[in-house]
Amino acid sequence: MKVYITGTTEINKSLIQEVCDELNAPKGLMSFGALDVISQKELSKIDKSFNNINMIDSLFFTDLFKICDDYRHENNIKDDEFVILLTSIRNNANWFSATKNRNVFIDINDWDKFTGKNPKYGISYQVVENIFQSLIGIDYTNAPSHPNVHIENDGCINDFCQNKLKVVIKLRTADICLSCQKKAAELSVDKNIMNNIQEITENIRKNVRKLNTYNNVRLEKVTINKNGKIKIGNKKIEINELPSTLFIFFLNQEKPTSKTSLKKYFRKIYEIYGKVNGRGNKDTIENLINPNGKAFRQNKWRVNHAIGNSISESLLGYYIIDEVEGEKYFISLSKEYKEIDENMTL
Ligand SMILES: [Zn+2]
Repeated sequence: MKVYITGTTEINKSLIQEVCDELNAPKGLMSFGALDVISQKELSKIDKSFNNINMIDSLFFTDLFKICDDYRHENNIKDDEFVILLTSIRNNANWFSATKNRNVFIDINDWDKFTGKNPKYGISYQVVENIFQSLIGIDYTNAPSHPNVHIENDGCINDFCQNKLKVVIKLRTADICLSCQKKAAELSVDKNIMNNIQEITENIRKNVRKLNTYNNVRLEKVTINKNGKIKIGNKKIEINELPSTLFIFFLNQEKPTSKTSLKKYFRKIYEIYGKVNGRGNKDTIENLINPNGKAFRQNKWRVNHAIGNSISESLLGYYIIDEVEGEKYFISLSKEYKEIDENMTL
């Protein structure tokens, strides 16, 4: 069974590849193929309202499935094959993901926060979860009332997880409860697909657990030079000016800072940006710190993702900009591991 994974235009191709690698690791009946992301031009063709996708803060489920359908059509993907759309654009119900027929979208934001791990694990899990749901007749319209969607968490792949932080429970149990297994048998879901789903979730579980051992943690210093270049140990973190600015700002903060209080720091953030960028643009920074805008989340994700690609996953939690309590953000690394050139202090 073929599963094609793509993304909206802002998604990094390397993330799609990492997710496919994770899913293809146990050899089974499903094969996961990484496709190119959908360009802005293609999106505009699908619907005029997608003309500037980077400025859209949230989409309706119907919009997201429209993108999947169009992509399926353009690429001659068969009706019984899956199209998975990864996106950083929120959906209006703020769900992790949803399924309609053989189309699936997945919100890629904050998986590092929900799982404390490289986002690829949570995203990969969502892929198989939605495939399983599709195979047993669950879609976004019937999910809230479907007898096999568990509103009370019980560690099954079909837990609803209204409290998003609880999603990590099912990653760690890698379980399909008896009633959901029965449902699959009733609907004659191929046993080999069921085995493949179990092997993939089991593999994710092992990887997530393996990384839970905090023995041998050896932290390295983060250094920021006078031009705002970031290094962890000897590794350069290659990111653009805007995510760099956000990182440098948070690295300077000694306690959690809420998104809504960022406007108090406008001048300071603007100054850092000016030094990193050499020019500096007030609108860009206003956009970045707008608590209702999308730029904060996107740039936070960019820097966290770049760090995730550079250091071992067991250390990730120390270096990323993390949501530590409701809407408050912080880098939890202690002072002795920070070396910030005085040009880059606040
Ligand atoms: Zn279940």
